[in-house]
Amino acid sequence: MKIIMLGAPGAGKGTQAKKIAAKYDIPHISTGDIFRANIKNGTELGRKAKTYMDQGLLVPDELVVDLVVDRVNQEDCADGYVLDGFPRTIPQAEALTKALAELGQKMDYAIDVNVPDENIVNRMSGRRACVGCGATYHMVYAPTKKEGICDTCGGELILRDDDKPETVQKRLNVYHDQTQPLIDYYTKEGILRTVDGTVDIDDVFQAIVEILGA
Ligand code: ADP
Ligand code: ADP
Ligand code: ZN
Repeated sequence: MKIIMLGAPGAGKGTQAKKIAAKYDIPHISTGDIFRANIKNGTELGRKAKTYMDQGLLVPDELVVDLVVDRVNQEDCADGYVLDGFPRTIPQAEALTKALAELGQKMDYAIDVNVPDENIVNRMSGRRACVGCGATYHMVYAPTKKEGICDTCGGELILRDDDKPETVQKRLNVYHDQTQPLIDYYTKEGILRTVDGTVDIDDVFQAIVEILGA
């Protein structure tokens, strides 16, 4: 099963992608996580990506596409995968469609997690990320057992720089300009499904499982 998660920044793509990956035993591929790992490890890719990410802008397509195409060609992706944060532009979507077509493959579902802009700033200001393992929490909606400490690895929790309100607004604008057109793209491909992302985390997941099948 090959799945794309669509939705605004903070809609809950990552939260749901992790649950899908666990339930269906397929890899969770987050381009944001890949860039953050590269930044942490001080790679050339990380250095390039950071200048865009810090400004709330998208990293250029040419730095993203090959990375994802290489990743989905790895052996652990043979039974499917869930893409989180990719594609984010029409050229990225077209490159993915083309790369898969060359292998006689196609994506199965594009799931749009729909959350209105009004809810997003609230979501983002409460989001906390673990510096150790990258796990994501929310101060109110998905709190850790001990305040400020990751349940999984005991690492410290931080507010991502790009989750500060001034950058969030910019990312939302970028989303509407560059990523939202993918909803039309995947509607035309016949694989778009929409879920209401404003309900509880488990209820969003329930709606997704109904689409994917148990
Ligand atoms: P969120 O989960 O809040 O939407 P991500 O972790 O997916 O954020 O992405 C963080 C940042 O990484 C984005 O704002 C963008 O700068 C960069 N990024 C991630 N994926 C892509 C992509 N497919 N194309 C371009 N930039 C990307
Ligand atoms: P995305 O990957 O789309 O940027 P995340 O999965 O990181 O979004 O979720 C953004 C923030 O909102 C996180 O702090 C997460 O814990 C929280 N969150 C995710 N889904 C929900 C939900 N259905 N209700 C309330 N909070 C949520
Ligand atoms: Zn952790």
